Amino acid sequence: MNILILLGMPGAGKTTQSLLIKDRLNYAHLSTGDIIREEIENATELGIKYKDLIAMGEFVSDKIIMEFIENRLKAGSDLPGFIFDGFPRTLEQAKLFDGLAEKMDLMPLQIIALFVTEGEAVNRLLKRSETSGRKDDNRETIGKRIEIFYERTDPVIEYYADSGRLNITDGMLPVDAVFSHVLSITSADSFI
Ligand code: AMP
Repeated sequence: MNILILLGMPGAGKTTQSLLIKDRLNYAHLSTGDIIREEIENATELGIKYKDLIAMGEFVSDKIIMEFIENRLKAGSDLPGFIFDGFPRTLEQAKLFDGLAEKMDLMPLQIIALFVTEGEAVNRLLKRSETSGRKDDNRETIGKRIEIFYERTDPVIEYYADSGRLNITDGMLPVDAVFSHVLSITSADSFI
């Protein structure tokens, strides 16, 4: 099973590219944000606990996120691959996932960072807020989420870069061009 990790700040285009890859390669789209929103919608114990924190852009604990990931991977072991959208988001998650991937024989991982400017990310998210219905898509929380990205998720990008596993894509390009690049990276490594 192949694992494609898409990294980048909120608004970089991770979900857009995930859905395109899902269509093309038949991988499962695993968005930790979607899983959390579902928990909130279903008012599970976890959803109730995290509702207000998520609305403010705060993170769910690494332990809970790792459980989500492990459970979904085990349930989908017959799939050709998974696209991770929004995971790993902390250095701890990245390190824990390296251990899990080793254990589950998922190495090597495919890792791509989508880079956009902060201004572009904010504009995209504000535009999305008109239709997304997401409580965290408002100007104040968008700023906070980007701040948290630099503080907690940038180190994940550095971690993968330092271990020579990071591919970089210019997320400012049109969607199709980004997709071609993402696809060429994923296909290059004996994927399909
Ligand atoms: P997203 O849909 O990826 O923008 O995620 C929405 C929100 O869910 C984030 O702002 C975080 O509060 C939370 N979240 C999503 N993925 C993670 C993760 N891997 N670790 C911790 N919190 C997460």
